[in-house]
Amino acid sequence: MELIRNIGFIAHIDAGKTTVTENVLFLTGMTHKFGSVDEGTATMDWMPQERERGITITAAATASYWKDHQINIIDTPGHVDFTAEVERSLRILDGGVVIIDAVAGVQSQSETVWRQANKYNVPRIAFVNKMERMGANYLRAIKSMQQRLQANVVPIQLPIGQEDSFRGLVDLVEKTAIIFTKDKDSTDQEEAPIPSDMIDQVNEYRSYLIEKVAEIDDVLLEKFLDNQEVSNEDLKSAIRRGTLGNLIVPVLCGAALKKLGILSLLDSIVDYLPSPADKPAVDGKHPDTEEPETRESRVDEPFCALAFKVALDPYVGRLIYIRVYSGEMKAGSMVYNATRGSRERMGRLVKMHSNHREEIEEISTGQIGAVLGLKNTFTGETICDESFPIVLEPPQFPQPVISVSVEPKLRSDQEKLEEGLRKLAEEDPTFQVKYDREIGQTVISGMGELHLEVLVDRMKRELGLDVQVGRPRVALRETIKQMAKVEGRFVRQTGGHGQYGHVEIEMEPGPRGSGFTWENKIKGGAIPQEFIRPVRAGVEEALSNGILGAFPVVDVKVTLVDGTYHPVDSSEIAFRIAGSIAAKEAQRKGIPVLLEPFIQVEVVTPSEYLSDVLGDLGGRRSRVESIEGVDDSQVIRTKTPLSELFGYATRLRSLTQGRASFSMEFDHYEEVPQAIAQPMLVGA
Ligand code: GDP
Repeated sequence: MELIRNIGFIAHIDAGKTTVTENVLFLTGMTHKFGSVDEGTATMDWMPQERERGITITAAATASYWKDHQINIIDTPGHVDFTAEVERSLRILDGGVVIIDAVAGVQSQSETVWRQANKYNVPRIAFVNKMERMGANYLRAIKSMQQRLQANVVPIQLPIGQEDSFRGLVDLVEKTAIIFTKDKDSTDQEEAPIPSDMIDQVNEYRSYLIEKVAEIDDVLLEKFLDNQEVSNEDLKSAIRRGTLGNLIVPVLCGAALKKLGILSLLDSIVDYLPSPADKPAVDGKHPDTEEPETRESRVDEPFCALAFKVALDPYVGRLIYIRVYSGEMKAGSMVYNATRGSRERMGRLVKMHSNHREEIEEISTGQIGAVLGLKNTFTGETICDESFPIVLEPPQFPQPVISVSVEPKLRSDQEKLEEGLRKLAEEDPTFQVKYDREIGQTVISGMGELHLEVLVDRMKRELGLDVQVGRPRVALRETIKQMAKVEGRFVRQTGGHGQYGHVEIEMEPGPRGSGFTWENKIKGGAIPQEFIRPVRAGVEEALSNGILGAFPVVDVKVTLVDGTYHPVDSSEIAFRIAGSIAAKEAQRKGIPVLLEPFIQVEVVTPSEYLSDVLGDLGGRRSRVESIEGVDDSQVIRTKTPLSELFGYATRLRSLTQGRASFSMEFDHYEEVPQAIAQPMLVGA
């Protein structure tokens, strides 16, 4: 287990993640033909649209090997429209490599992904890429990480030259230098003395490194204070401890396109990122009692694994990617899906390499693999040993913010369309499909316009379906403003076998972004254990269609406080209906309100258009957060309701003669002002 690294590369789109991944796969010997993003042959990018658009969408887990270590690369997308992929990969990887563009520094999406990585406590190293490009500046990129990410970043390498003259690296830990021996397309490098004009700088940065590490590591601090010699080994192990504890982020550099710096990057992944054995025990809950359960990262613990991705493979069918947190399991064994409470056979087990699959006999703690034959297991669910059931915390997926109606060009294709959409939704938890009876159309929802475009594209390619897409609409939500305590009763007792379910729940507003929280406070069997899950299911069902406009109800906490049952007439279905009745009633009593998505908008405009751009944003109910001058441009950051942003690209272009650019990403949900809520409800 010590020899495994489960890692992901995380970056803003275009920072070079695909290129870095390709190089790593190339150097670790698993791919023979070298892929290139620009030529559209990258081996990690499986789907044709990814090649055409040059973006990576799915998170494929790929195994590769370096110096006796197995490095499993979880491919994470850079584009924030694909949040689900980012979330699910961060949930299961043990360490991350953040790729920063040496010219652009930290960009908005790197900030988002950084925050997500913080949430999951993922230890990181950073790789400043594109060092050979004009305008590359290593120290400026590091400064931007300190400022925009508030990260405790410490360089462990210095570049020898940058831009055109980038020709080698100084390793500040070992105090050695390497020079790239060919300037193009080669990983050949040789050790060389540190260039004489860099000796002062190297000493300065090595002292800085020791100081920064001593600040967070007692072992090193002691040596440092006693003026003892700090050996390279001391320093290296202190950097490793600091990185694993999320106290520092070591920074390296290179130019992936020219294959420069990748060898040292691989060494650093092994040296500084955690193995599964370094991770703390994983927490979960007992599926029935909901008591906390934990599993140590050990092979002799009972088996548990998280299903983190469903992929429908055209050749082998439904593949479930799992990450094993404890114990081990053989192919062909029966496992227990603790999330659903069902038993399933784990058919074949495969390990995915970048260009082939390897069938394996068993899968053990810390490993990542794909399973064939789990028919009833979905993303985010736990499979485990039935005698030791545990439900692991699933990755949290944000709810979609935008929707469009879709219609097949040929009426006869309706069924095929629905079937196709259902499959896509199964692969992607942030993509939802609903049939809207009122307008008689199928409505799909996702995380952004690009997200939906890509999915519509896949329908065309994979199913040969031509679809007509409607005007995009904002996905609204509902919530409540005050606590409500209510009862739900479903009782039918007139002759024969009756129905009896009776629950008492409290529903209260939760913090924004908390979604749905559930607590069971029933003690002493007022409702028998086996009916608790059905109550929760009934409540969740009722909350999927709010009472204002049938939008999902979010940010509420529901507590089951009491209830009664009948020894003969009570059933799962009766309690499910009682739960649903109670949840509807609680919404009515809790003062229901509408929520709308707010977007963080970043506009970069030449200074001369600043007032026009600001005036226009003001008319869109924007809250301006900052305006910052950078060279001749102004960077405006606002929070704006998504409903005000349709057509913004065109408007901005005409305001600034096409000279401004902008990026958007989902920020949060907020209550819709009364005056606006009414027309929205009518429009919905
Ligand atoms: P991703 O979107 O993060 O996966 O980035 P890609 O790997 O697709 O790279 C985006 C663009 O940057 C492509 O055109 C690459 O060829 C280019 N690129 C990647 N690495 C480097 C580099 O080290 N130097 C330069 N000059 N360009 C690079």
